[in-house]
Amino acid sequence: MREPFDAIVIGGGPAGAMAALLLAGRGRRIALIERGERNRDKTCGHCLSPRIAPLLERAGLLDRVRAIATGRTGRVRIHTPGRKAATFKLNGGGTEAGWLVDRRLFDQSLIDAAAERGVCVFQPAPARVVQRGADGAVVIAGRGDDERRLRTRLVIGADGLQSMTARVFGLDVGAQRGRKYGFSFNLDCSASAPVSGVIDMFTGAGGYLGVVPGPGGALHGAGLVGTRSRGARDPIGFTREMAVANPTLARLLGAGAEMYEELNIIGSGPMPLRRRRIAGEGVALVGDAAGYHEPFTGEGMAWAIESAFLLDQAFAETGGAWSTAAAARYEQLWRHSIGRRMLACRAVAFALERPALLRLGLRAGAAGADIPRRYFMRQAVTA
Ligand SMILES: Cc1cc2nc3c(=O)[nH]c(=O)nc-3n(C[C@H](O)[C@H](O)[C@H](O)COP(=O)(O)OP(=O)(O)OC[C@H]3O[C@@H](n4cnc5c(N)ncnc54)[C@H](O)[C@@H]3O)c2cc1C
Repeated sequence: MREPFDAIVIGGGPAGAMAALLLAGRGRRIALIERGERNRDKTCGHCLSPRIAPLLERAGLLDRVRAIATGRTGRVRIHTPGRKAATFKLNGGGTEAGWLVDRRLFDQSLIDAAAERGVCVFQPAPARVVQRGADGAVVIAGRGDDERRLRTRLVIGADGLQSMTARVFGLDVGAQRGRKYGFSFNLDCSASAPVSGVIDMFTGAGGYLGVVPGPGGALHGAGLVGTRSRGARDPIGFTREMAVANPTLARLLGAGAEMYEELNIIGSGPMPLRRRRIAGEGVALVGDAAGYHEPFTGEGMAWAIESAFLLDQAFAETGGAWSTAAAARYEQLWRHSIGRRMLACRAVAFALERPALLRLGLRAGAAGADIPRRYFMRQAVTA
């Protein structure tokens, strides 16, 4: 493909793949650089919000996502130690339940879709920005003999929570970094299968852990712990303690000592991450790189995809070339929609760390009050 590229996207998660695909669809020359091997894994709970269905459909990807989904997520069951579990319907803002997607398949499928639409994909290839100025940037893709030097007018940082792009372009200044780490695992030999369509969420001192049916009959778990807590140093120990406090979790995990040896943990963080700026001269950040709260509401992939659409919209509204006006417009669109919802997410996260407040919230949810209903639940079905 002829250089310079109109944009180089660094990172092939949902945000980067979608941004590349949308911009290529407008006839732009786009490169996407992903350092992970094909089907790389990612810390995640695997729950794709149904709220994103209309955007996937607009991108022509809904059937593709349906085809790789390993299950649905219609309800969340919240377990607090010593209390009866409370089950809620998930709020998709529509009639469909959400999907369970194995990130190894989901992310790769979006990258492949981008390649089919003409995006020039470099994978596996770590990216680094070696030069930047008013007339564009130079990005190196790959290492050693495979190294490629690429020129571009715009770098799109879709490189996650630890975004190198944000650092290089000075968008890290004044960013607030959180005190929590996430981790996830697949367990092939769970004792009893998790209930299909239900996310089991276990809360406790120091963090929480969600469990869903995993690919091929496995169990998939994802948790969040404080960076200074014991759980951050020892997520397996944290999982074990949660299982002691929650018999249902122990049953699902089949909590024998040998089970814990099977846990292949991958982690990420710290979060939440809040930035003062997410776009500027020659640069825009999408997905987690732009900001992320925490996983409880299961919106991360949806926010990532939506941010790519907002970037595409900012481009279209400001004449189709990256400019100060496009950067300002993107920033405005992002803060108005995703930024606002992250603020609401903070309230839920705050309650999760305070079991007494959570119980109050759950009771309010069951009684039809607004806090849980408005944000992530449509209707309490039991309490
Ligand atoms: C414990 C936990 C559970 C979660 N559960 C859910 C859930 O159930 N549902 C949900 O929707 N969200 C969930 N999330 C959030 C979700 O995983 C993220 O919000 C989402 O992955 C963001 O997508 P992204 O494309 O911005 O970034 P990522 O998916 O992180 O992708 C970034 C990509 O950039 C690549 N990269 C980084 N640096 C470079 C470089 N220098 N060169 C080349 N490539 C690079 C990485 O390899 C990676 O592939 C969870 C998060 C955590 C931590």
